[in-house]
Amino acid sequence: MNECTTRSLAQMDQESHFHPVSSISDLQKNGPAIYTSANGVTVTRDNGETLLDMGAGLWCVNVGYGRKELVQAGAEAMQQLSFQHCFGGAAAEPTIRLADRLLNLFRSTVPGSDMARVFFGNSGSDANDTAIKLMNYYHNLRGKTAKKKIIAREGAYHGLTLASGSLTGIKSYHTAFDMPLANVLHTGCPHYFTFGKEGESEVAFTDRLIAELEEMITREGADTIGAFIAEPVMGTGGVFLPPKGYFEKLQEVLKRHDILLIADEVITGFGRTGNWFGSGTYGLRPDIVSLAKGLTSAYFPMSASLISRRMWDVFEGASEKMGVMMHGFTYSGHPVGAAIALANLDVMEQENLTERAALLGPVLLKALRNRVGENPFVGDIRGVGLMAAVEFSGFPKASAPHKIVAKHATAAGVLTRALPYLPVTSFSPPLTISEAEIIEAVDRYARALDAA
Ligand code: PLP
Repeated sequence: MNECTTRSLAQMDQESHFHPVSSISDLQKNGPAIYTSANGVTVTRDNGETLLDMGAGLWCVNVGYGRKELVQAGAEAMQQLSFQHCFGGAAAEPTIRLADRLLNLFRSTVPGSDMARVFFGNSGSDANDTAIKLMNYYHNLRGKTAKKKIIAREGAYHGLTLASGSLTGIKSYHTAFDMPLANVLHTGCPHYFTFGKEGESEVAFTDRLIAELEEMITREGADTIGAFIAEPVMGTGGVFLPPKGYFEKLQEVLKRHDILLIADEVITGFGRTGNWFGSGTYGLRPDIVSLAKGLTSAYFPMSASLISRRMWDVFEGASEKMGVMMHGFTYSGHPVGAAIALANLDVMEQENLTERAALLGPVLLKALRNRVGENPFVGDIRGVGLMAAVEFSGFPKASAPHKIVAKHATAAGVLTRALPYLPVTSFSPPLTISEAEIIEAVDRYARALDAA
């Protein structure tokens, strides 16, 4: 008899699948959560239950599930030219069109930005690895061979490969993996609600962080620091909006010390903050931009790294001497991913999804404040565009309310995320969500909080 017929799918999963970022013992005790289909904002489980996905997967399904336009674009591209690598100067049409469109999009929506080229990869993590390698390449070509340390922030999330995971500033991701790498430094988390001192104003908090950064640069030596990496809004850390004046003052310091700014826009890119890019929302003028997730709304794993003019000029200038630039991946610029990304951008534009995120953000915040703002353990409710957070405080140490609430929320028919750094529930629904769905999802979450 075929073994598959005697074992349930759940058993098969437990006996064969090593899940990412999951507890092995929880999986053995509770079994997996198996999903079978999704449409719009709603996902369906194998037991027939439907849930409103207030996470858009992992902050990524920006145009919602089941979009025929993206499916069709992918199918047609696969039929036409199922694969074309980009090594040695090769490329397919969708890849070229996507590079051109991304450059124009960033240039036209982020004032003062000057991006010159796009490099493609497969995931947010590898985009950040690419950023580190290009930082090394840039400083080496300029003869500044000691400028190799990277400063990230405590609470940051930049991925989980050895290099990007080292940039991630959440210790639980490092434990038992011999991380972070030695050339990564972490400076203070810019989250005023939790890390501001008693009586300290938001501006004074910003100034303290900037002073601490300057001290770090002085201590290490500016000639050893190659780049600073920042999410415009820190996502997985807890939806931390930059405190007043933060990026302005930060960029002044980086400029003075010839330190590159890498903007990790893996979450904030493609409308999430109510503008096309978080760099536009918060006045960043980065040297490298990492994009993934919303680039294809997760219909295809793809990342893009935008490279500034000043870096590109150095690469181009040294090209005769250096020969082949030896970095890239088999799937860099995959034509199917590129075609899907183009269709995704079409949908974003046709449905004005960035404006929609800007309009619906306040609706989400208002609903959260009305429905859970009075709870004695809710310390802060915040957000920008369609990324929001409920942060808990003042609860007994052992209870981790965000995790308890997440379980109750699933039972109540809404998917939310309990984050790993601070006791925070995050909300980042597809940008296509309706007002009625926001109200319904928050209502379910409020009921879950009451039940917890
Ligand atoms: N950077 C940020 C800001 C992210 O939120 C993530 C993923 O959540 C990553 C990088 C890593 O992306 P990936 O999981 O596609 O490697």
